[in-house]
Amino acid sequence: MSKLLSRDDYQKMAADLSPRTQLFIDGRFVPALSGKTFDRISPRDGRVIAQVAEGDAADVDVAVASARRAFEKGSWSQMPPARRKRVLLALADKMREHRNELALLETLDMGKPIRDAFAVDVMSAANAIQWHAEAIDKVYDEVAPTGPDALGLITREPIGVVAAVVPWNFPMLMAAWKLGPALAAGNSVIVKPAEQSPLSMLRIAELAAEAGLPDGVLNVVPGFGPTAGKALGLHMDVDCVAFTGSGEVGKLFLQYSGQSNMKRVWLEAGGKTPNIVLADAPDLEKAAQHAAMGIFFNQGEVCTAASRLVVQESIREELVERIIRIGETMMPGDPLDPATAMGAIVDESQMKRVLGYIEKGRAEGATLRLGGEQVRRNEGGFYIAPTVFDNVRNDMTIAQEEIFGPVLSVIAVKDAEEAVKVANDTAYGLAACIWTRDIRQAHRMARAVKAGSVWVNCWDGGDMTMPFGGFKQSGNGRDKSLHAMEKYTEMKATWIDLS
Ligand code: NAD
Repeated sequence: MSKLLSRDDYQKMAADLSPRTQLFIDGRFVPALSGKTFDRISPRDGRVIAQVAEGDAADVDVAVASARRAFEKGSWSQMPPARRKRVLLALADKMREHRNELALLETLDMGKPIRDAFAVDVMSAANAIQWHAEAIDKVYDEVAPTGPDALGLITREPIGVVAAVVPWNFPMLMAAWKLGPALAAGNSVIVKPAEQSPLSMLRIAELAAEAGLPDGVLNVVPGFGPTAGKALGLHMDVDCVAFTGSGEVGKLFLQYSGQSNMKRVWLEAGGKTPNIVLADAPDLEKAAQHAAMGIFFNQGEVCTAASRLVVQESIREELVERIIRIGETMMPGDPLDPATAMGAIVDESQMKRVLGYIEKGRAEGATLRLGGEQVRRNEGGFYIAPTVFDNVRNDMTIAQEEIFGPVLSVIAVKDAEEAVKVANDTAYGLAACIWTRDIRQAHRMARAVKAGSVWVNCWDGGDMTMPFGGFKQSGNGRDKSLHAMEKYTEMKATWIDLS
């Protein structure tokens, strides 16, 4: 089924849906050893949609043992890359076959509009798996430039047992960015989905088994961060943690590693993307559309959300008015309605957090130009209107802290030099946008901004061929592209004396 359906059809599908809710370990679904479950409350209407097994340290032990057994047995780790490729391509196909089901699980679980889950999340996740699958039988190792009396081999080997700890904003996609390269390279993986959004990943694990992935190679342990997540971070037999989430928790994983086995820790953390629009931007309407999408897409729950509009004073008013006009057309609606452009905030506590920042913005003297409140209160879910603050100073809390909601801060600057200064005046360095028609200006500024991704005359440019990750406190390591493979392999140097 690959057609976007109607709201009625999705509602019917939702009524008949029986999501997988148990842990997936060693190729089958099992309850948590403690027998505990937790409620999955849909942010769409505040109703419980599933009771999910609550994995903790004891379950993590079982999952890690299964992953280790599978790795040492070699049925996946030693499989020729071309055969691993076929299994992963079959998984990507299955994800696309189940496009509507996976999109529905994602939307019900975390509130994003079904049209985005359908068009972006499922397809990009399948594409990420496919891209790495296709690459894996095309990457070669190296031979060192030695003299004739030696042979120096530089080879990459799978690292072993990888724990992928992921957030709730793009549950499937963030997992796929890690699963693609980690599985393609031959590792065994344990995914710890966010407690707010475990459903899609549990279904994908089942599809992976159907695609032919051997038992134990992919395990999924839903549960809470301070129990299941921490147990993975501290585990002596986990070789690598690939984490996407907040900087605060990312720093904990660095500690866990130091307290345990010095496991590799790769972090993709938060951001406060500056969207710099200079007066010579080539197309102000396009800039306005990207600025609006940059902050309202996925309810602003995007690590690269263009949350700071750093705009040259002479075009500020015109640009802000255009963004407001677009924002007014994006008022939250039922996430299951394909016409909805903005859905629900993931849960009540995140909604309160975002509303708290809005209060703070008002208190610190920013001018509220759009939104600023909870909407659709009668639906039982958690919705916030697209919000625009003007006259923001970069030292205000709303310009410095990651809000992770649909809240734009407009900061006026006099020229490109001040724009770069403001852009870099943050603890984060995930992404930056630059709008100018002057190619020299664009290159100079792209060099000067401290960010892992720089987008010129667009927001969120790129595809699987481009690495993704942050400078500064936005993290280390890179997802996507062949560079992602570096995280999931160890480099071995073998020197053979031929004399
Ligand atoms: P979070 O840090 O609260 O949680 C992320 C994961 O860590 C979850 O699986 C959670 O259960 C686990 N966790 C929480 N506390 C833990 C603990 N004490 N020990 C071990 N594990 C723990 O983040 P979130 O609220 O799920 O997601 C939002 C954050 O993710 C934002 O900061 C956002 O910027 C970031 N994010 C970054 C990227 C990126 O690629 N850079 C992408 C998406 C989201």
